[in-house]
Amino acid sequence: MRASAVLRAVRRAATLGSTNGGSVGERISVPATAAGYIFRTDCDSDGWSYIGQSTRTDHDNVASYFGSGEGIRMHVAEHGTAGLQKTVLAIAETQLELHYLEMLHLAAARRDGLMVRNGDFGGPRPFSVMQRALYNLLPEAYAAAISNPKKFHRIIARNRDLVEVAILDVTAAPTEDYYAGLERDLLTSEDLTNPCPTCGAAAGAVCRTNANSLTKPRNPSRNHARRPRRTS
Ligand SMILES: [Zn+2]
Repeated sequence: MRASAVLRAVRRAATLGSTNGGSVGERISVPATAAGYIFRTDCDSDGWSYIGQSTRTDHDNVASYFGSGEGIRMHVAEHGTAGLQKTVLAIAETQLELHYLEMLHLAAARRDGLMVRNGDFGGPRPFSVMQRALYNLLPEAYAAAISNPKKFHRIIARNRDLVEVAILDVTAAPTEDYYAGLERDLLTSEDLTNPCPTCGAAAGAVCRTNANSLTKPRNPSRNHARRPRRTS
């Protein structure tokens, strides 16, 4: 029943836009009741792809959001969205299903030999906590994740229940583990070349929340919008 749900979602897949970008989203809408959707962004000229999830199902967002990885954001900053093609791969009815389907589709992309820009194996952040949960519950998947993409996909596809338990474990991880892992993710994924004028983070350090509060926790966060990027 699980496999058929995945197949049903995949059958709904539709490609947005054309290879020269621009007119994205006319031919598909994600149901407003969905928890989110899985997509693939392809950059044909550079030969890479990116698998992502989004919980923003309104038409404008589906049409204009190509991913939040640093590579995607740098590409859009430099070239705009021309040349990017976005494909909706699956619709998820719950947050849990969304995380699972992201892992499954990312594994499938690697199995198929796509050059994916994702640095992890999908699912909830932070990656280090997800790695540990998978290691505990499905060690054979953990072992195959780097060395054997075909096997990794097969294990992920056949063990949906266990993968979902791992996802739930991550969601319930202690707060300190969560933020320590998140900071490690951000250190590798964000452009930290310049200091941040919004929160005062130094070059090489991640942005922090609640920069103007004396009492609220200053947790690691994605780069603030006005933080200057590397100039290439
Ligand atoms: Zn900042």
